[in-house]
Order: sequence, then C-alpha cells, then structure tokens
Amino acid sequence: MDVILRSCETLLELVFPHLVTVLVERVVVESGVLRIAASTKDGTAAACPGCGASSMRVHSRYGRKVADAPVGTQPVLIELSVRRLFCDNSGCARVTFAEQVEGLTRRYGRRTPVLQRIIGALGVDLAARAVVRLGLVLGIVVSRMTVLRVLMALPEPAWAVPRVLGVDEFATRKGRRYGTILIDCETHQPLDLLPDREAETLAAWLRERPGVEIVCRDRAAFFAEGARTGAPQAQHCADKWHVWHNLGEAVERLVSHHRLLLRDLVEPGPSPEPEAGPVPTSAGQEPSEPYPAGKFLDRLRDTHAAVRAQVEQGLSLREVARRLGLGRNTVRK
Ligand SMILES: [Zn+2]
Repeated sequence: MDVILRSCETLLELVFPHLVTVLVERVVVESGVLRIAASTKDGTAAACPGCGASSMRVHSRYGRKVADAPVGTQPVLIELSVRRLFCDNSGCARVTFAEQVEGLTRRYGRRTPVLQRIIGALGVDLAARAVVRLGLVLGIVVSRMTVLRVLMALPEPAWAVPRVLGVDEFATRKGRRYGTILIDCETHQPLDLLPDREAETLAAWLRERPGVEIVCRDRAAFFAEGARTGAPQAQHCADKWHVWHNLGEAVERLVSHHRLLLRDLVEPGPSPEPEAGPVPTSAGQEPSEPYPAGKFLDRLRDTHAAVRAQVEQGLSLREVARRLGLGRNTVRK
C-alpha cells in the first residue's frame, strides 16, 4: 500500500522534526517498512569537517540509507540523497567532503541519532538479546552484536569523587581472576573497575582522586593496605553484607566446634568431651540439660535421628542424602 504524504508538512514536522531541513520526495510502505526518499537542498552551505569552512559548491551526489526510529511499530528507512562538496580552503588537506545533516546523519552512521539513543537506552536496561526480541515488537530491526556495539560506544556516565567509597572484589573467572569494583555507597552507582585486587592499584586510584571520607570494604588485607596508603585520612568500615557474612561464618565455626555435644541430644550419655569447651546456657535451666530448647535444635535432633535410622538400615551416605534432600557432608557430620 502506498501512502503519499506530500502535503502534510505539519505532520512531518511533528513526527519527523529531523527531516524539516531536507526535501521529502516520496513516502511509501513496502514490505512493512516505511521508506522515506529525501534529498538535501541545493544552495545551502555545509561545513568542511577538516577546516570548518563552509561550502555549497557541489562535486556530486550519492545515496545513503539511514534507519530511523519506528513510527507506529513500523520500521522506518530514510533513503537520503546527499551532496559531496568541494572544500575551497586552499590550506585544507581535503579536496571534497560529504555533507552531514544535523540530527539525521553522522559520518559512517547507518542509524539516526534518535534511533541510536533508543537502542542505547534499551541496551543499558535490558541487555542485547532482550533488545532484539523487544525490537521485533517495537519495529526496531537490530542485531545482538549491534546492540553491544552501541552499548560499548556510549560515553561513560559522569561521576564525582564519592564521600563514601565501597570497595569489593569481583571475578571475571571465579577462583582464577579477580578485579576490584568501586561503588559510590550513597548513590549505589558503580564508578570504576580496577584490573586486579592489589593494594597498590587501589592506593594509586585513591591518590588520584582525593576527597574520600569513608572507605566501606571487606576485611581483605590488600584492600585495607590500599585504602590506608591511598587515603590515609579516610575512616574504614565494613558494609552490611560483609558484617552479616562474617557473623554467619563465625556462628558456623562455633556450632561446628561444639558439634560433638549434639550427639547427646539424641543419645543421652556421658558428658561431652572437655575439648568442646563451655556452652552458654540460659538462666534457670536444669544442669542436666545444657542446651537451650528451640526450633533449631529440634530440627537438628529430628534430622540426626532420621539420618541414623537410614544409615542403620544399611543405606549409603549418598542414598540417605538423596532421600532426605540433604548435602552429603551434612549427612556425614
Ligand atoms: Zn576543508
């Protein structure tokens, strides 16, 4: 179906403001794509990208295709005839240059700036594959690799030196290669990635960017050392995640240290080995019952009994673990 919009200049200005400086010659819908044929106007000057001198002396014309933002979920392709102009500045190395149309073309660009912005914004939020899928609905025909290229070409967001700097490690290959991630703890904005987790790398980063008042980090020695030498005035603290993580590890160590005591919960017997050390008891408890009653211990007691019962039937640890939905190490303990 051909749709001709020759006389609809107001509509054109509203929907395609970036086309008002060119001559629109034809608008057709072909195979589901809105194709707009247009050309730049003769008699208008364009600036040479080499020296900035303006020229309107035409050398030749050539056609280029620029994908534009979709209209009503219909992909839009602008087929634009542009001029190659002479640069008349004798001091300029360029003899001719191709004109660009503000808001419509860039050198070597195959998409209008507005479509480029849309793909970039979608890419930041959704990542490549999702943009390709959503693009099919929106009328944006784009490949996964193009989304990645557009993403990589985006300028890095500006940031100021934070008051509270978060420092943690990240892995590019877990267990093999680690780097350092730096975050503004007040805005939660990631600021920078360092290629390793060496004290000196962090210290150098901090020295180049003075003004950090608080360094929020995990307890690794390389971060402690790097933050101390790079920002000696800053206070150090642990972030909430690491406080909980360290507490969890400490509790696990403590429970594991006293695990021999747990045996008597199932089989009351002689006193536990002295190696286990004193176990805190709540006030008013019977001396013969050194463990506070609670849901955790009830559950542990039940699990222990179930494991023992199955082991006594002659099942392997692996089979017991499978039947009870436990880890094999848990069953062994
Ligand atoms: Zn020039």
